[in-house]
Parts: sequence; structure tokens; C-alpha cells
Amino acid sequence: KTFETTLDTPAFKGSLSVPLGLYINGEFVDPIEGGEIDVINPANGRIITSIAAGTQADIDRAVDAAERAYKTSWGFKVPGAQRGKMLAKLAHLMKEKQSEFAALDALANGKAYNTAFSRDNSGAIAVMEYYAGWADKISGKTIEVNENKMAYTRHEPIGVVGQIIPWNVPMFSLSLKLAPALATGNTVILKPSELTPLSALLFCTLVAAAGFPPGVVNIVNGYGASAGHAIAAHPRVRKVAFTGSTLTGRKIMEAAARSNLKPVTLELGGKSPTVVFGDADVEQAVKWAIHGIYFNHGQNCSAGSRIYVQDTIYDEFLRGFTEQARAIRVGDPFATDTYQGPQVSETQFQRIMSYIASGKESGATVHLGGQRIGSEGYFMQPTIFTECTPDMKIVQEEIFGPVACLMRFGTEEEVLERANDTSYGLAAAVFTKDIDRAIRVAHALEAGTAWINCANQTEISMPFGGFKQSGIGRELGEYALENYTNVKAVHVNI
Ligand code: NAD
Repeated sequence: KTFETTLDTPAFKGSLSVPLGLYINGEFVDPIEGGEIDVINPANGRIITSIAAGTQADIDRAVDAAERAYKTSWGFKVPGAQRGKMLAKLAHLMKEKQSEFAALDALANGKAYNTAFSRDNSGAIAVMEYYAGWADKISGKTIEVNENKMAYTRHEPIGVVGQIIPWNVPMFSLSLKLAPALATGNTVILKPSELTPLSALLFCTLVAAAGFPPGVVNIVNGYGASAGHAIAAHPRVRKVAFTGSTLTGRKIMEAAARSNLKPVTLELGGKSPTVVFGDADVEQAVKWAIHGIYFNHGQNCSAGSRIYVQDTIYDEFLRGFTEQARAIRVGDPFATDTYQGPQVSETQFQRIMSYIASGKESGATVHLGGQRIGSEGYFMQPTIFTECTPDMKIVQEEIFGPVACLMRFGTEEEVLERANDTSYGLAAAVFTKDIDRAIRVAHALEAGTAWINCANQTEISMPFGGFKQSGIGRELGEYALENYTNVKAVHVNI
């Protein structure tokens, strides 16, 4: 089965054609148990198409294929330079279809086509290129022992790796999982989110053309509780890397521990603070704070959802922030001037609305927004809460929507205490012109990433990951290579 459609929109004109099966051992196959999942367009709530949904039996098949490929035609059997060339070719092929990838993500995720094109998919291509460059630079160390003994380390591939990704940046997530695993010589079974499976299916059509032998890359769609769990719990999957909610991360770690103690990399949720001191450039701070929370409809793990502003500039900041939040263009993902499309699903939309109700009940003030837009699709107003207190659910829990909590503070000591008062620790931003304070605060914030006078920035060469319950391990940069290699110590008696 193939999904075929032609779109004639302001942002994208063209045809889309996507096979809907499971991609196992280099070909599209039907699921053994014959399941399907409807893919919904969040801009109107209508079904776009139905994809094949894998279950345990399909994951078993994929593990067989990945094991076979690892033993016969991948790992150290293929020189790093050759693995790198395949990743570079993949990046090239992705670039040729960048507009189709962006259109598929705009359709199923609801994000603005222009954002999907210039952020997600450009990023995904750049990640492939970056790790293509690493593939022939994986090296161990020679360690001096004594005259009669030579010792060295090897960074060996782990083998069959499982990867499970969410829906918020579909192709970027796929790339940052697959690329380092393939560069280091592993074979992979990846499960995309059931909400946004279409771009990953288009991606499968490029894998063989890039030169990857069958079974090296397997992409199996399906529900988390069946296909996802089967990957995490599989005794022959040697490692699992997951991006998604903290709740699911806990389940993955449990399944990994019970099955074969496979190592886990977890990139989980966040409730990131943005701290604006009185001496900051207010205009710049407002601009970044808007990007921090509202980019991608607030559906960012690192969204700056708690904004602390020093008393002296609170009113000025609130005025500027409100003005810009009000000006955000919410609408059709395929219009050229849209900044915010619909939220990804009815479930997410209802979840956000229930947080808004909870904020009101607990005494916070809806300063802006808080309402649904229109009657079709899952569009919502950019929302600002003021008069928030530390114990409120809207201040403690990840909302994953366009909802900011603005709070005032007096001193540096006080704001640090409040900013760190959360179970999460993914990212944090600080705005000040005082260099000493900027660095002192960036170091004191409990977060895997600290931004000084900017927010929500990702550099491919920089590690990304969480402190506390925001995750385990680091992705991106050289650090991601550690997730996918076993270090072996070799002792040689001379
Ligand atoms: P989710 O946890 O519901 O689902 C993520 C993936 O896990 C999906 O593919 C899903 O099918 C699968 N899954 C669900 N239950 C499973 C189970 N029991 N076993 C195995 N797999 C299972 O998260 P989501 O709603 O898709 O994504 C939103 C969350 O992702 C947010 O909490 C966000 O903060 C987080 N996120 C984190 C990062 C990061 O880098 N830290 C990046 C993006 C998103």
C-alpha cells in the first residue's frame, strides 16, 4: 500500500508518495498480525491515511535481520570511511526530497511547513553530514604500561540497537538517533511516533539507495505499548535509546533492566527556567523568551516554560512579551506566514486545556490566551499565566504546549532556588549584561544545557541531554558516539 496525494498550497506544491509498510531487511513488508494505525491531520482532525503497525512478532523479525546484517555485512566489516560515505549519500538524498519531508511533517504534525523545511529537516540533514564525518574517526587509545606490556582500547559497536522517538521534531529526532549509531557500526531498529510516521517512511525509500546493506536500518512503526515495548524488552536488542516523556522513559528503563540489562540513553521531558535579571537588554530577552516557549507550538522538551523576571523590569518585560505573544500567527501549516500550527493531537490539545483549567483553579491569572481557536483542528491561543506560585501544577509539570508562566523575583539567590525547584533539569536560560553573574548563574542552574543571553539553541557539535529526571546520557556532538560503542581494553604481553 502506498499513500499518494498532490498538494497545491501556498507553501508547498507537489506530489507525495509514501509506502506504508514496515521497513525490515531492506524491504517494505506487511505486519505479521496485520495491524494498522490511522494518521490524523491535526489541522482538521481528519484521517490522512493508515500505516502498517508492527507488534512483537515484527520486532522479532527486525531483530533477526539486524543481527544477521551486523554479523555479515556491517560493524567493523565495513571500513569507517565507507560507512561515512553512505551517511553522506543519505544526507544528499534527504536534501533532494527536503520539501517532501517538510510537507509530510506539516501534514501529520501540524507544524508550519517553513519551520519543518528550514529547521527540522535542514537540521536532520546536517546531523547526517556531521556523523558522516565522524565514521572514520572512531579511535581508542594506546596506554603505556611497561616494557613488557602493551595495552590499548577499542571502541567497538554494540550490535543491534533499538531506538524510539517522539513526534515533535520527527526527522531531526530520527537523524540524531540513527546517524551516530550507524557511524559507529551498529545495526538499528527504530520506531517513530505513531502520530508522525510518514516522513520516516519516505526516509526508508532512500536507505538502500545510499548503499546500506539490508537489515542495517529497520524502521518499524507501531504503538508504544506493543512495538515500542517489544524493542525495549527484547533480549537480543543490546541497547535502547529513547526520546519522549519521563513517564515512558521510566517504563523503558524497567523493560531494559528486566530483559537483559541493556544500557539506556534517555532524553526526557523538561520544565526549563528562563531567568531575566534587571540589567538585561529587555528587548532581546523578550525576543528570546518568546522563541524559548512558543517555538514549535511549545512542543519542545527544552521549552522555557517558567519565566522569572526581576522586579525592577517585570512590568516592562510583561508588556513586551504580551505584545509579541499576541502577534504570533496561528493558522494553516501550509500558509507561508504561519508561526504556530495546531497542536499535534486531540489528546495533547485536551491535556493542555486541562492544565489551563488547573492553573485557573489554583489561582493563577490568564493574562493572555487560554482558549481554543476555531472549531476544527487543535489550534490554541498562545497563553500567558501570571500570579503563579511555586507549588502550582502549571509551574511544576511539563505542559508541552504554548503556555508560559511568568513570575517575578527579587534576588539572585531566590531565583536560583526557585529555578532549580523541579524534578527536571534539561535546559535553562539566563539574561544579564553582568558577565560574572551570567557565568555564576549558568553554572548554578541544574540543567544539561545553559544558555546565556539566548534560548532554545541547539548546536550539532554540542552535547544535549538532561540532569535529574530529564534523562540519562548525552546526544549530539562527539558525546553521542559513547552511547553506541563498547570500550574494550586489550592487554598484550610482549
Ligand atoms: P511519549 O513518551 O508518549 O512517546 C514517545 C515514544 O515512545 C513514541 O514513539 C511512543 O510510541 C513510544 N512509547 C510509548 N509508550 C511506550 C512504552 N511503554 N514502551 C516503549 N515505547 C513507548 O512522548 P511523546 O508524547 O511522543 O513526546 C513528548 C515528550 O517527549 C515530552 O515529554 C518531551 O519533553 C519529550 N522530548 C524530549 C526530548 C529530549 O531531547 N529530552 C526531545 C523531544 C521530546
